[in-house]
Formats: sequence, structure tokens, C-alpha cells
Amino acid sequence: MQNIIDRFISYIIIDTESDPKSSTTPSTLKQWDLANKLVEELKTIGMQDVTIDENAYIMATLPSNVNHDVPTIGFISHFDTTPDFTGANVNPQIIKNYNGKDIILNEEEGIILSPDLFDDLLQYKGQTLITTDGTTLLGADDKAGITEIITAMEYLINHPEIKHGKIRVGFTPDEEIGRGAHKFDVEKFGADWAYTMDGSQIGELEYENFNAAGAVIKVKGKIVHPGYAKGKMINSMYIATEFINSLPELETPEHTENYQGFFHLSSIEGKVEETILQYIIRDHDKKHFEARKEMIQNLADEINSQYEREVIVVEIKDQYYNMKEKVEPVMHIVDIAEEAMKQLGIKPLIKPIRGGTDGSQLSYMGLPCPNIFAGGHNFHGRYEYVPVESMVKATQVICKIAELTALKN
Ligand SMILES: [Zn+2]
Repeated sequence: MQNIIDRFISYIIIDTESDPKSSTTPSTLKQWDLANKLVEELKTIGMQDVTIDENAYIMATLPSNVNHDVPTIGFISHFDTTPDFTGANVNPQIIKNYNGKDIILNEEEGIILSPDLFDDLLQYKGQTLITTDGTTLLGADDKAGITEIITAMEYLINHPEIKHGKIRVGFTPDEEIGRGAHKFDVEKFGADWAYTMDGSQIGELEYENFNAAGAVIKVKGKIVHPGYAKGKMINSMYIATEFINSLPELETPEHTENYQGFFHLSSIEGKVEETILQYIIRDHDKKHFEARKEMIQNLADEINSQYEREVIVVEIKDQYYNMKEKVEPVMHIVDIAEEAMKQLGIKPLIKPIRGGTDGSQLSYMGLPCPNIFAGGHNFHGRYEYVPVESMVKATQVICKIAELTALKN
């Protein structure tokens, strides 16, 4: 367990925040600091074919130790952290034998991690928690995943009696800004399927995610001196308001859960002359997803028909799709992960992701890729924490999947 704690901390103290405004890969130079360290570490533990390309994508191989043919499987994590909250100068706190009470993250600033607010904490009574000091995020998303994959590979190398096929490992930059899969060379990776170790609480196993699109709604008005505006001025902000109010009021993130989709108005920039609305559209169901996009276009057409000229211009771009379509035909890859968890006494929590993962993009690039828990909670903020026992279990799940894949093929 100490091995995992030390390894995890050696990663989270390196700042790897990504930056959506940058067009380079990786989006920030500091991601190289951890990437280069990971390459050295993979070599040190005895991984083969350790490579890092010009975009900082890392790949490595653990060769098969059996004589029969076994499918090649992969394990993938990302080493960047979200730009939503600072990841610089992470100062982790280790809470041993957690007593189920409030954890004071920062005495000076009165920042407390409390089970009153985060009741998930209570399932980890008696365990060892790693938290922040309340001023940064922790980076368990997804340095816990990296810790688990490397620790599992080290374990398999040191225990050749555990039989497994060829295993590929992949670490990517820029997942948090939606680009983790963009420059991932699926062919070079050469796995039949893979798992991202990027889920949250222990037991999570996910192979369904949203279909996702972004919509930019440009509303064009007409500015005229307010004193002489009668019959001439068109105030784009009023038209935009009409548009907003015409979408279903309860189909928003704050009113939906599980398989319910939504329209999310993420920003408004308005003047009389022009107002720009940014929406994201999400739905697990492909048909409902298409219908949502149509609803936006139809609404714009309807409003446009009330004016002599086009006042609303809609631009919709698909962002990613539900991986279910690509995973269902190869459902055994989910079954193996579920079986691995059960054999280790972990209750599988199979549920749809209300978001996307690198795995959804990779699945559409030809690498079916469900997502497995990495163990952390409260990602992307100061209350992020990870139970060490969950990281140990995730490490065991990786080893067990490798073992079962060799056994069943
Ligand atoms: Zn992540």
C-alpha cells in the first residue's frame, strides 16, 4: 500500500494542468515533466517498447507469458488535470484509519471535507484517504489511474506465475480539454480492446455515455438610436430570450439524471445588435439526440419566419457519440471486467456516464474501450480525495482482467 501512496504522490506533485486555449499538443509544456518521468518509470519496472511521440503520447508493452494466442488488451489513463481548478503545488494530506467525521483540509481558511455534504465518505470509514490541503485539486483524475496501471504492470512482471497475454499501456495528455484521444495512434497501440482507468468510485464500470453536440446560436438584431427606434430597432436580446424560453424548461442538467438528456445553455453574450448563445446538447439515445438537434433548428426557423430576414443562425457540431454502439457487439470485454471485480469481492456498479470519456472517442476510432473506476471522488476541485484501498483494488482488477483474458481465450 505504501508503494502505491508514494507513487501516486510523486505524480500529483507535478503540475500538469491542460489549457483549452492552446492549440499545441500537449496543450501545456509542463505536461512533459510528468510524461518524461512516466517513460523512465515504465522502463525501470521492465516494460518493453516504451515510446513517447512528439505529442507526448506514451505507449508500452508487457509481453505475453503464455504459448497460446490471447487477444492483446490495453489500459489507458491521462496525465493532465483539468483547467477548472489549480493543480499547482498540490500538498496532499494522508488521513489514516478515517473516523467518519469532518476532515479539516485547511484550518486557516476554514475548508472542511464533511460527510454531511459528501456522504460517499462514510463508505471509507477505517480506510486511508488522500485529500488536498483545500487550496488545489488533488489530481486523482487521472493520476490514480496511472498509478494503478504502472503498479499492476510491476506486479505482473514480478509474478510471472500469473499468466497473461500481451498487454499495452497508453498514457495521454489533454483528456480534460476533450483532446486525449485526438492524436492517439490506435493502429500503433495495436490492442484488440482496452479500458480507460478513469472512473470514480470503487466498482464503477461504464460502457454507455452521452451523444454530444455543441450549438452556437447567433441572433442578429438591428441597432437604431433609441429615441428614433419605433418600428425600426430589433433587439437581439429579446429574440434570444424568446428562443431560450421556448426550449423545454425541465430538460436542463439541473433537472435531469440517469438516462435523461438535456439542453444546457452554457453562455450568453448579448448586445442589441447581436446576441450569441452557446448550448451543449446531450442524450444517450441516438434518436432523441437527433431530435434535440432538430428541435433547435426548427425553433430557429419558426422565429425566423416572423421576420423579413433571417434573425437566427444556428451552427451545430457533433462532439462525440455513445460508445455503447461500439461496445455492445463485443460485450465480452465488459463481462470480463465485471467478472474480475466479482472475483475480487467488488460490487460492480454499471451505469451510464453523464459525460464522455476518451474511451468513447477511441471506441469510434476502432478501439472498443469501456471505463473502469480509478477510485477518486469529487473530481475537478478542492474536495477531491481518493481512498488508497480503492487504488489497491483497481490495481488488482487490472491484473485479474489480464489473467481472465488469457484464461478464456
Ligand atoms: Zn479523467
